[in-house]
Amino acid sequence: MIKKAFWGLSTPQINYEMLPVHLPETEKIPPPQRITLFHPKNESPAVPSTLGIGDPVKTGEKLSLYPDQNDYVISPVTGKIASLSPYTGDFGKNYIAISITPDGKEVIDDTFQQQRQSPTMALLTEYLAGAPGNPPLSLLADSDSGIHTIIIRGLDPDPTVATSQYIAQSRFSDLKKGIEILKQVTDVRDIILVTAGETVQGYGHIGAQVKSVKPAYPSALPHMVMKDVMGQVVPAGKTCEELGVCFFTAEAVISIGSAFESGQLPTSKTLTFIKKDATQKIIETRIGTPIADILEYFDETVNEFDRIILGGPMTGSAVYALEHPVGPDTDSIIVIDRDKAAYASDYPCINCGECIRICPAKIQVNMLVRFLEANQYEEAADSYDLHSCIECGLCSFVCVSRIPIFQYIKLAKYELERAKTPEAADA
Ligand code: SF4
Ligand code: SF4
Repeated sequence: MIKKAFWGLSTPQINYEMLPVHLPETEKIPPPQRITLFHPKNESPAVPSTLGIGDPVKTGEKLSLYPDQNDYVISPVTGKIASLSPYTGDFGKNYIAISITPDGKEVIDDTFQQQRQSPTMALLTEYLAGAPGNPPLSLLADSDSGIHTIIIRGLDPDPTVATSQYIAQSRFSDLKKGIEILKQVTDVRDIILVTAGETVQGYGHIGAQVKSVKPAYPSALPHMVMKDVMGQVVPAGKTCEELGVCFFTAEAVISIGSAFESGQLPTSKTLTFIKKDATQKIIETRIGTPIADILEYFDETVNEFDRIILGGPMTGSAVYALEHPVGPDTDSIIVIDRDKAAYASDYPCINCGECIRICPAKIQVNMLVRFLEANQYEEAADSYDLHSCIECGLCSFVCVSRIPIFQYIKLAKYELERAKTPEAADA
């Protein structure tokens, strides 16, 4: 368990913390007064037409805002639609925020229950694409994707986060069932569960190969797993998926397993909650629960300039509204006291070389950052290996000038990707 604040560590050697043999109990957050779900927004038709304010919804009901479109969310509660409003997420992604007021009853929608006897890829994509853990089902369903291997993460990529580790160790039978379903509905050659160190021994008869990685960050990041487990280096600018390998969290697999075992679509998210005093809790809460409700449950006060990070301390991102909801992919929420937060500065690079020494991709980060700061993204990609970056965040972590290198890198990759779209070409 965590003994001291992550941000206070001075050494760049960061080990993953292994959960104890006797796993801690999950804390169950009571159902909130309001749930918010983010449904992808379509440009055409711009106005949602299949759901309206006041419409009743059941727990596990599929909510789709546009007729004849594949996007949907699953209601985690029984209640009424309270509002539908536009929401812009990270990197300009547009959503409709669906707010639901629970009415205190629990009426389960049984549409999936009636169809679950014959698992197919189509059935999975129709009901489980937004399940806890966010299984990448559309990729798997695409016959042109060439996916031949599924890697299940039994270890969280970021240090201090224990969600995948906890689920892989505590939900063995649902994990096994999920693997069985994936084998049944896909043509993948291999399914590999990746965990750390001696925990490998606990997974006999799981129905997948089990491999371990070193318990030190960043060995559980996808590019590192590709290198150490698959023996394959992902070329610059390519993705693991383009090499035929897709990653599932352990939770995504148990969501599939438990849905087919019980007939009910899973609606609760397991996640790691880390308080300001660095205490780590494994919690279970309905998808759509506002962060504020979790803070209140743990009596955690957030003051001005404290930070709330969704995702891990190395690769997560800050949120600024306590009403922000837990999503199907929220694996952790970290609250950091303002005195321990690593704030970015506008100090210049002093060429100390720390970032170069720690970079697992051997990028000349001190040079790369100069181009990124000047918004010269193409030069950064052409001359300084931007696309070789595996997005570990270690350079930002060690930078003595507190330059937000990792954020610059993500922005640069996003801008270069956006420049390829037809809209950008027409502009
Ligand atoms: S985030 Fe930084 S340290 Fe990590 S691979 Fe990219 S450039 Fe290297
Ligand atoms: S760690 Fe920061 S200050 Fe040091 S060389 Fe890298 S970018 Fe420059």
